[in-house]
Amino acid sequence: MNQFLLTPIEYLKGVGPQRAALLSSEVGVRTFGDLLNYFPFRYIDRSRYHQVSDLIELDSFAQLKGRIIQVVESGGTRHKRLTAKFQDESGVIDLVWFQGAKWIKPLLKAGVEYQVFGKAKQYGSTWSIPHPELTEWKDVHQKTGLQPVYPSTEKLSSKGLHSKGIEKLTAALVLQIKDKIPETLPLELLQENRMISREQSLYLVHRPDTEQHFHQARFRLKFEELFLLQMELQIRKQITTQRSQGFVFKDVGKVFTDFYEHFMPFQLTNAQKRVLKEIRKDFLSGHHMNRLLQGDVGSGKTLVALLTMLMAIDNGFQAALMAPTEILAQQHYETIGSLLNGLPVELRLLTGSIKKKEREHIHAGLLDGSIQILVGTHALLEDVVQFANLGVVVIDEQHRFGVAQRAKMRGKNTIPPHVLVMTATPIPRTLAMTFYGDLDVSVIDELPPGRKPVTTMHRYESHRLRLFGFLREQIALGRQVYIVYPLINESEKLDFNNLMEGYEAISRAFPLPEYKVSMVHGKMKPEDKDFEMQRFLKGETQIMVATTVIEVGVNVPNASVMVIESAERFGLSQLHQLRGRVGRGAEQSYCILMTGQKLSKETLKRLETMVRTNDGFEIAEVDLQLRGPGDIMGTQQSGMLDLKIADLSKDAQIVVLAREQSRALLLADPDLTQPKHATLNLILREALKSRPNWGRIA
Ligand code: ADP
Ligand code: MG
Repeated sequence: MNQFLLTPIEYLKGVGPQRAALLSSEVGVRTFGDLLNYFPFRYIDRSRYHQVSDLIELDSFAQLKGRIIQVVESGGTRHKRLTAKFQDESGVIDLVWFQGAKWIKPLLKAGVEYQVFGKAKQYGSTWSIPHPELTEWKDVHQKTGLQPVYPSTEKLSSKGLHSKGIEKLTAALVLQIKDKIPETLPLELLQENRMISREQSLYLVHRPDTEQHFHQARFRLKFEELFLLQMELQIRKQITTQRSQGFVFKDVGKVFTDFYEHFMPFQLTNAQKRVLKEIRKDFLSGHHMNRLLQGDVGSGKTLVALLTMLMAIDNGFQAALMAPTEILAQQHYETIGSLLNGLPVELRLLTGSIKKKEREHIHAGLLDGSIQILVGTHALLEDVVQFANLGVVVIDEQHRFGVAQRAKMRGKNTIPPHVLVMTATPIPRTLAMTFYGDLDVSVIDELPPGRKPVTTMHRYESHRLRLFGFLREQIALGRQVYIVYPLINESEKLDFNNLMEGYEAISRAFPLPEYKVSMVHGKMKPEDKDFEMQRFLKGETQIMVATTVIEVGVNVPNASVMVIESAERFGLSQLHQLRGRVGRGAEQSYCILMTGQKLSKETLKRLETMVRTNDGFEIAEVDLQLRGPGDIMGTQQSGMLDLKIADLSKDAQIVVLAREQSRALLLADPDLTQPKHATLNLILREALKSRPNWGRIA
């Protein structure tokens, strides 16, 4: 690395030891290089003027030109307030000062033209601009262009390093960078994509002059960031693929064929077929499979899992299917058992509640190889669970498991078993590419035929009586109903009380003996939970009052109505998951989102999206826009989110481009040995060393 970039920030004019210490502790800026990479998060267009009449809709800083027509002082001695009525061609707005009235007032000259800069806020019914920047028009030296806005902190601001202060520093620094910024990207790549140099980009991102330059700079820096990330991911993948040895499942054997031809209750969808082909290809490759299967709720992942496991069995291996909850494991066990009905496959269930004796039996059967498919929960992870020759592991609802748990499953054999992880939480394409760049991804993007899309409605509390009427109608038709309460944190007392009150209200509105109501929540003992769940499953109760414990995977085809209480408190993907519990049978299903009256814009957007579409990928995209990538992927992967300038929710196109370009480059020069890739090679080797293995999920 070059000396200039490593120069301690203390030595930049205007910094000094005190501010340097603060920059380091507050935002991690220690060197010139760090500051150059401390990017503005937004820009204000100082070349444009707004109209007073536009301000109300504009939720950002605005620049105005006009005259002060009147100055008023109000309030007592303690809450003094200074107001200037400011007028342009379109209207009048108040400029307000809550502090400093004494020295500001003499500066305000009625009738004189000013440039005003600030953000309009609503106080009660009137709009005003608190503490605007005010410059007499004659003193405005026509500044054009974009003004960068930097992230700052309270402590930094207190030492003069608010956005403006930081801007002064970066402005001074970029004046010194000429010929000091080494290029990181290969020349060819720059030319091909018409990108400007790193040096130019760093200058322009801090000091944009024209709109066009500004876009060029941002594009170049975003591309670079995403490109290097993709390169890194793909090199990792190369390394693991080269190193990994995987079982070859050569034969499509008797069990698979028998099942496929005689036992399968329906035709596979095209998407299911495609995914199975992809898996089969992995099984023949000699390398270890590490595949993520994404498929919306109800898309038929279980069948794919079963067929995958049968391929292993036919080649003399064992298979395991792990699910995150007892109910789900149980259900998989039963589904698979009935699908296999009559076929000579040894299938067992292992969960925490299996009795000791039976458990020991299972352990022995796994070790001597007589058990062929093991379905279970976390119990599979225990060290005592050892297999004779585990060939493939399928992990359902993978986001419910931690990285360590998945790795543990992989370690259950000296040659790691193939791993298929399944998720019903669609991940937007750009995120999947970035987070799972070293993983193969299959998608089931087609639902089995004959499904009626769930009809979704948003209703307010005032609609409750009619809701109950509707539920009675549905129950009279022989259907079952879920009513779900938010219990986001199961220890939250208030939530729990809501659930209980809800249960009581429902029990009153749907009284015995005509109606029977089940309830499950996270505080119940697993046996009790299971008992209640079973009653509902068998149709002994018509209503299931529950918390989100039922969110994952449960299949009750006769349940056709999902009522979600306080729907405003759920995230989009959770709402979508819950809705996926219905619409599994032949009947028209309904999802009713109940909310209070006061809803934020964002909440309305969530609800609207749910009402508008059933497409999980579309919902995931909206979710990404609303919440950003960090919240979607969870903190586990947050280390990967140290993106400095690219934004995965907005820069999808650049992600795709970066991925294509990195693939092409590695295809041409897999080991980066060509001289023109020397710098790249160096950078990536550093990156690979400093970030061991964050991308792996299994
Ligand atoms: P998920 O992907 O949510 O795990 P499941 O595997 O539980 O979905 O499948 C949902 C339902 O669809 C099940 O009742 C299953 O039997 C049925 N199903 C799966 N594949 C098909 C198919 N190809 N044709 C018709 N029904 C299918
Ligand atoms: Mg499932």
